Amino acid sequence: MRIAVLSETDRAEARVAATPETVKKYISLGADVCVQAGAGERAGISDAEFEAAGAAVAPGAAEAAKDADIVLTVRRPEAAALSLFKPGAILVAIMDPYGQDVALKALADAGVAAFAMELMPRITRAQVMDVLSSQANLAGYRAVIDAAAEYGRAMPMMMTAAGTVPAARVFVMGAGVAGLQAIATARRLGAVVSATDVRPAAKEQVESLGAKFVAVEDEEFRQAETAGGYAKEMSAEYRAKQAALVASHIAKQDIVITTALIPGRPAPRLVTREMVESMRPGSVVVDLAVERGGNVELAEPGRVVTHNGVKIVGHLNVPGRLAATASSLYARNLYAFVETLVDKAAKTLAVKWDDELVKATCLTRGGAIVHPAFQPTA
Ligand code: NAD
Repeated sequence: MRIAVLSETDRAEARVAATPETVKKYISLGADVCVQAGAGERAGISDAEFEAAGAAVAPGAAEAAKDADIVLTVRRPEAAALSLFKPGAILVAIMDPYGQDVALKALADAGVAAFAMELMPRITRAQVMDVLSSQANLAGYRAVIDAAAEYGRAMPMMMTAAGTVPAARVFVMGAGVAGLQAIATARRLGAVVSATDVRPAAKEQVESLGAKFVAVEDEEFRQAETAGGYAKEMSAEYRAKQAALVASHIAKQDIVITTALIPGRPAPRLVTREMVESMRPGSVVVDLAVERGGNVELAEPGRVVTHNGVKIVGHLNVPGRLAATASSLYARNLYAFVETLVDKAAKTLAVKWDDELVKATCLTRGGAIVHPAFQPTA
């Protein structure tokens, strides 16, 4: 059983799919691990550290992927790289499969068994494999750090000999994994924090972190959670009522952090140009959903823009801004999943194709797209 860890084909990606810690674990599973030279460099892991953990280091992707039964990456590799994989090889990554028909066909055509880690069901057994949570948690933390760095004032209330400075008011929109960590981080920095979400369950979680919950709590709100625990897309009527409440709240905030996502759909637009213009100069808005269409009207992917003195932060790949920590958690998520694909006694690959985790994440196999949610449209 041979496992390859490749450098990311997207040069903007600083994370890596394995760490010396997980390399050692794969070796104890009976695998040979080969890491592409430089794969861990931007996550602070040298080739020598991988070698010390027992991995071989190959000069390029072709050498690393050659004969590999399992290939680990952070992002879905470009189609051109798939020709380096042996037919039937397992590829485990964050696949970003929605609306990517051409890329999915390329995976199928390459004969790769591609597993999308972000489709992992959110059940107890799979919590340790939940890349959305491990990465979103770091994004929520980093959003507050980025906001604090852009904000020209202090976050906590300070009583000094020169007088008192007030605490910053931080409003977090979307109180899922990222939002809850943003609330906790902003609280630790001493801000006065409020938050909103469309899922009723979020209210208690927000309040348990010491933040104020701000939302229109009508009948639609009470029904607004899917069986999977995700947000539903809300009606136009609800969005209008919520927008009015939020608009008056945002005008009083120093920092707004938006994290709202709906799986497989564009991010809901929550902050309009008018809302940004209602904020005082020096305020900061961080849009964590910018990659998925954005929660904030004026946010630009990959840029910090200033509008009427308000800074709007649209960093891409925010977990990648903490590449070392993000890699270490991502690598553990991956190991926990790969372990389930292996017969530990025989030390061989033994994928249980009817396992619910396998069925939920396997996109392509045997030359075809096998996931029911991603069947090509006629
Ligand atoms: P997400 O990243 O899909 O979305 C972020 C948040 O945005 C969610 O809380 C969502 O409700 C909210 N949102 C969507 N539309 C909104 C709008 N118009 N206005 C305001 N907020 C809006 O969510 P997530 O962080 O992945 O978490 C979703 C849920 O799954 C949470 O309840 C979380 O606690 C739960 N969860 C469960 C497990 C598990 O059981 N293993 C693991 C992780 C998360």
